[in-house]
Amino acid sequence: MKKIEVNEVFKEDWNRVLNHIANLFYEDSKIVVAAEDAELSFHFQHSIDEDYTIHTACELAVDGSAYTSNYSIQYETEGTEKEQGIRMKRALSHVMLDVLEQYTGMTQQWGILTGVRPTKLYHKYRQQGMNDDDIYAILKKDFRISDSKVALMREIVKRQLVTIPDLDELGKELSVYIGVPFCPTKCAYCTFPAYAIQSNRKAGRVESFIDGLHIEIRAMGKWLKDNNMNITSVYWGGGTPTSIEAHEMDALYKTMFESFPNPDKIREITVEAGRPDTITPEKIEVLKKWGIDRISVNPQSYTDETLKAIGRHHTVQETIDKFWLSRQSGMNNINMDLIIGLPNEGIEEFQHSLDESAKMQPESLTVHTLSFKRASEMTHNKDKYKVADRETVTKMMEMASNWTEENGYVPYYLYRQKNILGNLENVGYCKPGEESIYNIVIMEEVQTILGIGCGASTKFVNPDTGKITQFHNPKDPAAYIMTFEDAIEKKIDMLNELYSTRISQ
Ligand code: SF4
Repeated sequence: MKKIEVNEVFKEDWNRVLNHIANLFYEDSKIVVAAEDAELSFHFQHSIDEDYTIHTACELAVDGSAYTSNYSIQYETEGTEKEQGIRMKRALSHVMLDVLEQYTGMTQQWGILTGVRPTKLYHKYRQQGMNDDDIYAILKKDFRISDSKVALMREIVKRQLVTIPDLDELGKELSVYIGVPFCPTKCAYCTFPAYAIQSNRKAGRVESFIDGLHIEIRAMGKWLKDNNMNITSVYWGGGTPTSIEAHEMDALYKTMFESFPNPDKIREITVEAGRPDTITPEKIEVLKKWGIDRISVNPQSYTDETLKAIGRHHTVQETIDKFWLSRQSGMNNINMDLIIGLPNEGIEEFQHSLDESAKMQPESLTVHTLSFKRASEMTHNKDKYKVADRETVTKMMEMASNWTEENGYVPYYLYRQKNILGNLENVGYCKPGEESIYNIVIMEEVQTILGIGCGASTKFVNPDTGKITQFHNPKDPAAYIMTFEDAIEKKIDMLNELYSTRISQ
């Protein structure tokens, strides 16, 4: 751990933000005040003028050299206390980032932006009436974001507005996420609710969970019908929702179509079939029977050793076979996920993954960068997994960007995660016209996502203010079986509260 000393006791949230900036350069750092064994020592100054100008300065003295930075920004209004805090955190982040870039020689492409949804910020400025040039100026000056990332954000926002021209009005509808918490085995990097299906089947939990899920779908569907609420998109995730049997899937989709209002108005239904080892001709027939044609078949990598190392328990050949089985059975909107920076993978392995993807030309390709999520097996046993350095990871991201362009894909959504390799991002690419509506609405938080099933989070987005509140269904199937009726009740109360004015209008 890198101990970093600062000259004053900052408020906890300021400290957290500065620690985040330090972590962009040093994987594991801790900011402390007056520590004798600190490796780096920062001296900050900050003040606010009467005309609401914020001034910050930072000096890093190390190895006989001094790295300094000054930053000033004037605001038109005094702002609320909360806004003042945000402004000061940003201004302090600026100077700290600047001196660390000078000292380390590294450049942070995302500047001081800590949020996971950069394009949401772009939409916010757009909705305030700013044009692209105004937004460019703010993202450069206030956030120090690189030209290439600003251009990526702009391209994605434009694409999203082509896909969903009524994006700004989507708050009057909602989307639905349905979580099925089972997988054949657990991948090493996974923190999703993904319980081994075989042992849970033996213990009777799969059937009990499915019984509960039918009830929850019916109850939530009833509320939506009673309140004339249309659904924009539905996403079956988990886990892997194709882990259950074909007849179980069939019965659940029947319940969904019977319970949800105006199924013909739902713009998209996706089923994650992420693990190729769960896909069978019978399950594809069920998907087709219900008109579900957007699925994910996720290779992650096209190197068998990697799949073994991350606990996927399927082979590369199986991914390829199941892709073609799906394609030949008439599935015409297939997403595939790749992960950059998997253990022991470098340029060569990633190039191989891109070459294999080129043969299949899925409608969309989501390129993730590996992130060490706190609760994953990979993070707990970090020493066991050797991953590529920052430079290599950055190069792989460039390869993905070039490859997608050469193969006729466009970027249409992006998000960042904590502890993501190289402080990069995850980008969803697709052939134009094949964008996933759900992926856009969840990333841009333009409407409520109603979560049903295990581990499903409901994100209530206030249609007037954009304010977000959340409710989490239990992750564990055993807990879900015991508590789903309470969860239904609480969510209905929250929905009534959120939409009460609109409903009574
Ligand atoms: S297939 Fe997906 S949900 Fe299942 S364990 Fe792997 S990463 Fe987790």
